[in-house]
This record gives sequence, C-alpha cells and structure tokens, in this order.
Amino acid sequence: MNVLVVGGAGYIGSHCVRQALAAGHKVAVLDDLSYGHAESVPAGVKLFRSDMGDQTAVRAGLRESAAEVVIDFAAFTNVGESVQQPARYHENNVVRTEGLLQAMRAEGVKKLVFSSTCATYGIPEKMPMTEDLAQNPINPYGATKLAVELRLRELASSHGLSFAAFRYFNAAGASADAAIGEDHSPETHLIPLAIAAALGRRPPLQVFGTDYPTPDGTCLRDYVHVDDLSRAHLDVLPKLSQPGQALFYNLGTGTPYSVKDVIASVGRVLGRPVPHAFVPRREGDPPALYADASKVRRELGWVPRYDTLDSIVLTACNWHLARPKGYAS
Ligand code: UDP
Repeated sequence: MNVLVVGGAGYIGSHCVRQALAAGHKVAVLDDLSYGHAESVPAGVKLFRSDMGDQTAVRAGLRESAAEVVIDFAAFTNVGESVQQPARYHENNVVRTEGLLQAMRAEGVKKLVFSSTCATYGIPEKMPMTEDLAQNPINPYGATKLAVELRLRELASSHGLSFAAFRYFNAAGASADAAIGEDHSPETHLIPLAIAAALGRRPPLQVFGTDYPTPDGTCLRDYVHVDDLSRAHLDVLPKLSQPGQALFYNLGTGTPYSVKDVIASVGRVLGRPVPHAFVPRREGDPPALYADASKVRRELGWVPRYDTLDSIVLTACNWHLARPKGYAS
C-alpha cells in the first residue's frame, strides 16, 4: 500500500517506516522534526517537513504520496511534561490531530492506524488489562489520547473512517542492526537511563519507590520491543479494508517486569552493574501496568519476536554503545 507515516522520524515511527519498506509498502514520512530525527528517515523515503495540523502541507503530502492509509505516531508523549503543560499537549495531540483528520477527509483517505496508550485507562480496575476496562486517564497525556480515540469512533460511524488504535505499553529497545533507536531529550525512560548509568554516562539511576504492593516493591511494567510494536501497525492493515471499522488493541507482551528486574537485566547484558539509589515514588506512577495481549494475538496473529526482557535490553544496549550521543554521535 501507499503509506504516509506521520511522525515517521520519531522513535516508534522510524522503526515502522523500515518495517513497512521491508514488507513492500511504498512509504513517505510527514514529520515536523520537533522531536524526530531526519537522520532516521531512510534514503529514498520522501520526508514532508510539516506539522500535522497544517492543512495545506498535509494535503499536499497525502496527494504527492498517493496515500491509501495514514499511520500516525506524531504526539507529545511525556506524562510529566503533560501535567506541567496541559494546554500544549491538548494543542498538539488533539487540535493538530484533528487537522490531520480533516486533511485526510478532504483528500478522501479513509484508513488510519493511530498510536494510543495504556495511559488512557488511568488506574486500571484489574490486571492484566483487557481492552474493555474503563478509561479514566489520570494525566493530560492519557486524556488527549482518549479524546482522539472518541473522535475516531465518531468518524468511523459518521464518515466511514476505518481505524485501528493501539494502546501501547512500554516501548523499548532499538533496531537489531543498532542503526536507529531511542533518542529523547530530555530522557526520562527507565531502560535508557539504566544503561547510561551503567556506562557511567549519567549519575546513578534513581529507583522511584520501593514500597509498591508488588513482589519486590518496585513498579511492574510491560516492556515491548519497538520492532514488535511497530509491526502490529502493518499486521492490522488487511482489517481496515471494510469502511467504518473501529478497532482497539492493547499492545504489550503481557509479561510484567519490575524496575529491579530491569536493573538486573541491564547489568547482565552489559556485564557491569547499574549504580542506583532508592528514592521516593514518582507522582502518578501506577504500581502495575501490563497487558492482556490475547486480543491482538488472536485477531492479528501478532506474536512478539523479542519475548524476554534481556533480548529487548540487548538491542537498546547495542544502540547506546554504537551511538553514545544518540543521533548527534
Ligand atoms: N523509573 C524509575 N527511575 C527512572 C525512570 C523510571 O524508577 O529514572 C520507573 C518508573 O517509576 C516506572 C518504570 O520505571 O515504574 C517505567 O518508567 P518509564 O518512565 O520508563 O515509563 P512509564 O511506565 O512511566 O511510561
């Protein structure tokens, strides 16, 4: 298919672009490069440099790429920042996404794969998490993603939009060849911070909270390899052939790991310990978040190829060793 990947220069989007090319799709990228990295866009892939709210530019991108489907990764995704700057998050994640949706309507593009998040559930009612749990986000980031999910439902019934929304758990890792990977500024995520601490590039890792009601007292999360995550966006495309599809999938492996498990894994993979200190809880961190991934496995035949924490961490370590300063290296 002709695919326009919006946010295709970002962490997850860039992995999806490579996979889409490998699967034989014709791919173009639209990205404003506010967080994305032009270097991550493969040679030969057209990059439209624009924000997704710019009607004229997005419509031109859709036309020039003859897009049949949009895969949209463009969003601000930092929970803590969203609490500090809720209006900015609303403007980018909701208002600009609406601009993208209007441009798609104007150009007759009726298929969309959308990046949502397990943060739309807020404090989940039960674990592991199924797609039918109540969605009561507890931070502006989750609220912006839920607002778009609701809007997409509306467009599916009123205008025949066919979409799939993937509610991500914790994306992690890097491409197997270490050519692309995670490069956030500032970095707030556990795995890159643990690796940087072990390599002596950052101060000791701060472990946020050891008094959670979990087996070792630290938070449990569901880490899913970025290539497995992005592959699901392509696996779902055949499901969008009928108009008006509204599909929702949790995207995690279903296996929870604690912060201490991550520290141990990074230590094993790098062969050196992760210096760390125990500090109080970070505000807004639920004790445990992990997927019941049976729906995505059953309906899309999706199976994570990276099925252990060490295998995910290994790719992240290789990326950070190859690129000590990320894309600036
Ligand atoms: N975490 C931590 N120290 C850090 C960063 C994260 O202990 O410097 C913990 C955090 O409390 C959470 C887990 O690691 O339990 C994963 O956090 P991350 O920010 O990577 O992803 P989140 O689950 O918040 O989306």
